[in-house]
Formats: sequence, structure tokens, C-alpha cells
Amino acid sequence: MTSYLIKGVSVVGGAPTDLLIADGVIAEGGRADETIDAAGLVALPGLVDLHTHLREPGREDAETVETGSRAAALGGYTAVCAMANTSPVADTAGVVEQVWRLGREAGLVDVQPIGAVTVGLAGRQLAELGAMATSAAKVRIFSDDGFCVADPRLMRRALEYVKAFDGIIAQHAEEPRLTEGAQMHEGEVSTRLGLTGWPAVAEEAIIARDVLLAEHVGSRLHVCHVSTAGSVEVLRQAKARGVRVTAEVTPHHLLLTDELAASYDPVYKVNPPLRTAADVQALRQALADGVIDIVATDHAPHAVEDKECEWAYARPGMVGLETALPVVLSVLGEQWELIAERMSRAPARIAGLAGHGTDLTAGTPANLTLVDPSARRVVDPGELASRSRNTPYAGTTLPGRIVATFLRGEPTVLDGKAVK
Ligand SMILES: [Zn+2]
Repeated sequence: MTSYLIKGVSVVGGAPTDLLIADGVIAEGGRADETIDAAGLVALPGLVDLHTHLREPGREDAETVETGSRAAALGGYTAVCAMANTSPVADTAGVVEQVWRLGREAGLVDVQPIGAVTVGLAGRQLAELGAMATSAAKVRIFSDDGFCVADPRLMRRALEYVKAFDGIIAQHAEEPRLTEGAQMHEGEVSTRLGLTGWPAVAEEAIIARDVLLAEHVGSRLHVCHVSTAGSVEVLRQAKARGVRVTAEVTPHHLLLTDELAASYDPVYKVNPPLRTAADVQALRQALADGVIDIVATDHAPHAVEDKECEWAYARPGMVGLETALPVVLSVLGEQWELIAERMSRAPARIAGLAGHGTDLTAGTPANLTLVDPSARRVVDPGELASRSRNTPYAGTTLPGRIVATFLRGEPTVLDGKAVK
């Protein structure tokens, strides 16, 4: 196994130092086979994404475990959690083991499957949560993402079930009766455009209900893609009471607003929808003060025919793995400790991914990424490693470039290019 000396690197924003990678771990010191001049670069623990859609099995035309893993590595990730809304749905031990095995074969990031909460994401009966938890994939997070577990009795039972093994229910918070036919955020812009709105309260009402259920059961709830100022307030109160709830925000909800829908370009159609500038401000504040625990991409690749069509027919979602860190850098600036916490340590802790989100001290697994914060990049959809091109940042200049990524000491990205 090749050993690497990373010279003059700033570890999470600290003073320049040398990092030695040997035998898969950060080593004490000594000689190395290869030297990487890392003056001006920042080393972060490998990023961890709690919310990735890899589309395999079923929609390999949009993404595969391998292409999504490559996109993740190029984005600085060393682990991703794969959402369950594949075809077939990841609601059995067989499907989650298949995704887990494909991730191992690709070998570019650790792929941790998320299991469905309900059979077929249909919201009627609980899936085989126990069988998925005890499978080779060792599923700990369950989600019907794409759909909300709207039935409160089913949600309660799911929370009770996973409590036995300290599992988590990750909720896509959307009261379906309040969002029927919704095309964008309900507000001034939707009124002006005459499009059916997706009101903030449809998210906030479910989060409020679910934190009460989680509190009642004493179980763990994770809230996917929080998008409104009101949701932040519900979470703030729940956390103050000691409810076991964690929450994520996407890079796009930290940067983009509902004004973009006025272009009718479906690349801006996403679920939950882009919200107002006031919501964006509240989300940034919540990420800084910890009411929102993590940034998660909700990387949602879609084939051209599902995205490049009329707004009303386009599938919601954006690719995000390769632009997440640059977007967060543009929002937060070079707050490396905060970035390491929200994009690596906290998601690794929530998902229970041992060896990820570590401090990069001697003896820890060498899962890390090197970032050049001074670089600027114009996003070119044609250059993405993802099989899909639905990025809302095409032509946008973003700060930061991922120079290298290491998974257990093996480079997956070098000189900004995928190694395999
Ligand atoms: Zn979702």
C-alpha cells in the first residue's frame, strides 16, 4: 500500500503541518513513498452525506452506485447514506444488502444503505426493519424519503420499533393533504406566477407532530431537508426540552430562493421547494448555532427526460455531491471547524459510521479530503461525474476545489481527478 506525506497542510484550518498516511491510517511520522505539496490546502475529515439518492437498483440511467460514489469522492466525501426510494424499494434485507455490496465493489466511498420505513414507501405497513438492521448492511436509519410517513400511528410504531436497537427514523416532513398539486413554495412568488403553492406549514406541522411522538416514545428522530424558519423554531424548542431530534439542511436551501421559479427552469424545482430569503437566513443561523446539526446534499439525479420538460411535469430534485462543499464555503466562508462538524463529524456520529468524522490524529483511519480554498470554479454540468446533469449552479462561480480524497489511506481523488 502506497504511503503519502502531505506536506504543509492546514488540518481543519490550523497551522501548516505534515500528515503521514500509511497502512490506511494517519501515522506518527517517518518516510513516505509519495509526497503531496499541500501548501495552502486544508485537510478535512472525509465528508459524510446522510442523504444521497444513488438510484440503483432501477434507474441506472440517472445514476448508479458507482457513478454516484465517484461524484461523492470528487466532492470530498468518504461516506454516503443511500436513500431507499429505489426500484425495487430498499424495504427488504435483500435490497439493502445489494446496495451495500455494490458500494463495496465500487470502493470509492462507504455506502451505507437507508431502509424504507414502510413497504414500497406506500405508508400502509411497516417494512422489515429488524431484518434490515440485522442484515450485512446493518441498517440503522430508516426513511420513506420522497414521501412522508404521514400516518401518525405508523410513525409512532416505527419510532417504537427502532428504539430497541437505537435506530433512527428520518422523516421527509410534508403533510400530503396540504401539498396536493404543489409546484413551488406558497407565497408572493407563487401567487404572482399562478402556481399551486407548497406551504411552509405542511413541513412545520409534521415536524411538530413528530418531535412530540419522538418525545413520547423516547426514540430518535431525524428531520430531512429542513427548509423553513418556522421549522427551525419548532426544532429549537424541541431540542431545548431534550427531545432526541437531529436535523439537516441542504446546500441549495442555504443559498437559493423561490424567486428562481420565475424562470420556469425546472432545474430549480425541488422538494421541499426553494423558500424565501428570510427562510434562507433562518436556516443559516440555525446551522451556525446548532439547531440544525448537519448539511446533507439530497443529491437527486434525474435523467434528461424527467427534468428538461415543462415545470409541471419535471421531477423535483438537484444533483449536489460535487458542489456541496463549494456552496457551503460560499455561504459560511472559511469556518473550517464548523464545516468539519456539520459536514463530517456530526453526520458520522448520527449515522454511527465508525472511522468517519475523526480528528485526523495518529492512529485514526485515513478518511480525509484536501481542499484548495483559494481556487474558484465555474460549474460545468458536462464535467460532473454524476450520470445526471441537473445542477442549479451551471455557469456559477463557486469557491473551493477538492484536490484529493482518501478512503482508508487509498486515494480516490488526486489532482482533482477520480483515481478510478
Ligand atoms: Zn425528501
